[in-house]
Amino acid sequence: MLWESPHPHLDIPELLTTWQWVFETPEYSPGLYTSRSNLGSYINAATKERLDFADVKEKATHLSTALIKQYGLQPGDTVSMFSTNTIWYPVAMWATVRAGGRVNGASPAYNADEMAYALKTASTKFLFTLPSSLDVALAAADVAGLARGSVFLLEGQRDGFTSIHDLIRVGSELVADPSWQIPSHLTNKNVCGYLNFSSGTTGLPKAVMLSHHNLIAQCHQLKQLQLVSPGQRYKILAVMPLFHITGVVRFCHYPVFMNGDCIMLPSFSMDSMLKTIVEHEIEELILVPPIVIRLVRDPIVDKYLPELQRIVKRWSSGSAPTAPEIIQQLHKKFPNTGFRQGYGATESTACISCHPPTHFDYRYAATAGMLCANTIAKVIDMDDPTKELGPGQTGEICAKGPQIAMGYLNNPTSTAETFKDGFLHTGDVGHIDEEGLLHIEDRIKEMIKVKGQQVPPAELEDLLLGHELVEDCAVLGVPDMYAGERPKAYVVLRAEVQPTEEVGLLLLRFVKAKKVPYKRIDEVEFTAVIPKSPTGKLLRRVLKARDREV
Ligand code: AMP
Repeated sequence: MLWESPHPHLDIPELLTTWQWVFETPEYSPGLYTSRSNLGSYINAATKERLDFADVKEKATHLSTALIKQYGLQPGDTVSMFSTNTIWYPVAMWATVRAGGRVNGASPAYNADEMAYALKTASTKFLFTLPSSLDVALAAADVAGLARGSVFLLEGQRDGFTSIHDLIRVGSELVADPSWQIPSHLTNKNVCGYLNFSSGTTGLPKAVMLSHHNLIAQCHQLKQLQLVSPGQRYKILAVMPLFHITGVVRFCHYPVFMNGDCIMLPSFSMDSMLKTIVEHEIEELILVPPIVIRLVRDPIVDKYLPELQRIVKRWSSGSAPTAPEIIQQLHKKFPNTGFRQGYGATESTACISCHPPTHFDYRYAATAGMLCANTIAKVIDMDDPTKELGPGQTGEICAKGPQIAMGYLNNPTSTAETFKDGFLHTGDVGHIDEEGLLHIEDRIKEMIKVKGQQVPPAELEDLLLGHELVEDCAVLGVPDMYAGERPKAYVVLRAEVQPTEEVGLLLLRFVKAKKVPYKRIDEVEFTAVIPKSPTGKLLRRVLKARDREV
């Protein structure tokens, strides 16, 4: 059976780039074409620095002009971002898409090896970073063959490096060409503007190709389900990182489309988050489960409780499941709020489903909401993928719609495995009920999610297999109350090595030295054999079942 979205169909523009959609077409973002004093903005919560959307348009135009005319940026070139959240991040993003380039976000926590892999995978031509990440960026650029002259600073100064402000100044002295147009033989569905990493169903991180259409469609889909109190400006707090697809959509694009304010937290702490919510009177928060847990557990929340109870209308969570008992405690603490979930993946430009305003109620909080507009889903039997299941029957969730990505860059095999018969095969297991609400129950894909961030087990397995004491290994996600999951390694040691506590600690330290903190393993179990199929494929489900039995 096929499920259709319950929402009215949306007409989504097909010939505009994301830049032209908001910055050059009054029809789609009318608020941007009224008075300057009415414009929304990106705001730095700490320094109060503010760029309204006229500033953003002007600076991004100059920046794209400098990149094209002085540095030779061509349509289709990748510009990577290696930075924490800053108001200059979306300026570089908009400049890139204005020039017809592709924006790629990488985690600022990456080490040089991880970043070099990211630069190679995304075929990066230019890189924006911060002074604090410059050394890692340069080490990665050297490995990936990216010239140091193609590395720019998004904020601050360093001798010998060009900053975004230098580039904007150069561009302001040149004559800007019109923004890049979708070629006449194509539509915006065929043009990739964004590359975001995901490990997908299996293997190492891949660059997901998101089209201009994907981004525009997702923003239209979200707007249809948006509630803003009468007389209020739309406001959002950018707590989650801008390199993740949720950040790209919710904090870089959607605020411009809504002519709202996006307040950026340069670095996260509960105190700074809560203070900013109160200071800017933010009605709806988009969070990940570990932060929702802290909302109910962290005593610092009490400091702001009466104000939060007055201001916050709704909590929203996604990226990973939120435990029902946490949802209950949240409701108890904030009885007058609503709750909604977003469910989707990088491969679906964020949301496949979401709660509509009729369902901003804690009764539905454990579900993943309803299909977004223009979206169709099917649930397929896990043993017989040709069999489509009915209401309440559990299987793999597959989705089709204007937000479904183009595929993986330079990876036709993974693309064919994940994007089949016009549907994204999510690798998530669940069901859809009679009311059309999605219920996510499990994940059959390998991916581990630690605090909402992806940890591809293949990456940790490759690393451990390179260690001289390791004969074979497998990494699984095991449940963790706070992080959702954490990686655990099952290791077969070389015949001559004894499975002692010291050896276990040595392996943990080895991974710790090579990987960003959220990918670290904190448990090793020695085992005699890793279950494999006759063709040598690791049988994760067998291992997982074995782990659950213990
Ligand atoms: P990412 O590409 O990093 O956004 O990760 C996508 C994956 O996160 C999905 O395929 C799910 O496994 C998981 N996920 C996202 N949203 C939810 C949600 N609301 N509930 C449960 N799992 C989720």
